Amino acid sequence: MPRPILATIHTEALRHNLQRVRQASPDTRVWAVVKANAYGHGIEHAFEGLRGADGFALLDLNEAERLRALGWRGPVLLLEGVFEPRDLELCSRLGLWHTVHCDAQIDMLAQHKTQVPHRVFLKMNSGMNRLGFPPARFRAAWTRLNVLPQVDEISLMTHFSDADGPRGVAHQMAVFQAHTQDLPGERTLSNSAATLRHAQALGLKPDWVRPGIAVYGSSPDFPQNDAAHWDLQPAMTLSAQIIATQDLQVGDTVGYGSSFTAEQPMRVGIVACGYADGYPRLCPTGTPVLVEGVHSRTLGRVSMDMLCVDLSAHSQAGIGSEVVLWGQASNGAVLSIDEPAAAAGTVGYELMCALAQRVPVRVDEWDASRSDPIRYLPGKSAKL
Ligand SMILES: *Cc1c(COP(=O)(O)O)cnc(C)c1O
Repeated sequence: MPRPILATIHTEALRHNLQRVRQASPDTRVWAVVKANAYGHGIEHAFEGLRGADGFALLDLNEAERLRALGWRGPVLLLEGVFEPRDLELCSRLGLWHTVHCDAQIDMLAQHKTQVPHRVFLKMNSGMNRLGFPPARFRAAWTRLNVLPQVDEISLMTHFSDADGPRGVAHQMAVFQAHTQDLPGERTLSNSAATLRHAQALGLKPDWVRPGIAVYGSSPDFPQNDAAHWDLQPAMTLSAQIIATQDLQVGDTVGYGSSFTAEQPMRVGIVACGYADGYPRLCPTGTPVLVEGVHSRTLGRVSMDMLCVDLSAHSQAGIGSEVVLWGQASNGAVLSIDEPAAAAGTVGYELMCALAQRVPVRVDEWDASRSDPIRYLPGKSAKL
């Protein structure tokens, strides 16, 4: 038997979350953002659940190739554009649309020999100060692109730094609008937080939204709003089994550094999941978990291959019991990835992206709200 740990990708949850995004921004096309190997879910694993999107946005050319290999013939957008001239050849060959955020990328396009002109997304730096042309130079960049025979349609793009927080999007929208109002072309502006929180406040209806995290069922603005508030379902469950139990007496400690000390006699479970599986070592005593679908907590330090959970209120639990680190338990109970993430001082994004290679992955094609036992099948798509 393989080590009893499993990541399950919920196809139905991905579909549901995509639908939620569509409700939040009606009559808008949706880029499902699948960078970082679909936020750790695996592009091949997530594809079935996300193929209802209007396009896929990502950064790595090899991920774009994998999407084409899956048979996706619709739009694919490179969010950082190309990195060197020969990337443009792949764009021509695979029909990839690409972001243009700097002059060097326009230079590359001007040198590029192509039969088919490229669809590009010209990016403005409206305040994030990562990628994009400064507002004052945006029009000049547009004009340069517009005369190139290598360029077909030019769409306009920007990215928000504070859509999840109190600062919001208005200050960036004002900059974007002031410098683009009379330019033709489709607009794409919003990430998940902006799509869910600011769809009305944008002051224009974008042609495309670019949700990532919401599609995977994590709340973009936790803890202000949780995934249940946004009606998002976890697209990934990380579950493992208890492989040993220990009975602690008062004063006994657990794990490295003896960071947890029992204050009363108690039973604990040792779970086949550690930081080498992608569970954060920074999760302190008290981080929520589900043991057989009922809330419990971790105890002591997370080690490389194991962690410890409190079985005080779980008299039936023992070796073989299911422990959900995040996602959905067999009985239907849900523990959002945002909870262990917050306990570790980070965000759901980081946990899902950090799922370790050694964890086998199974794709659950069925309705995520059903309740039957997790089956530790090796998984038809465990190795891709
Ligand atoms: C990652 C990314 C997104 C998606 O952001 P989420 O917060 O995951 O919704 C959208 N646009 C760009 C440019 C990105 O890099």
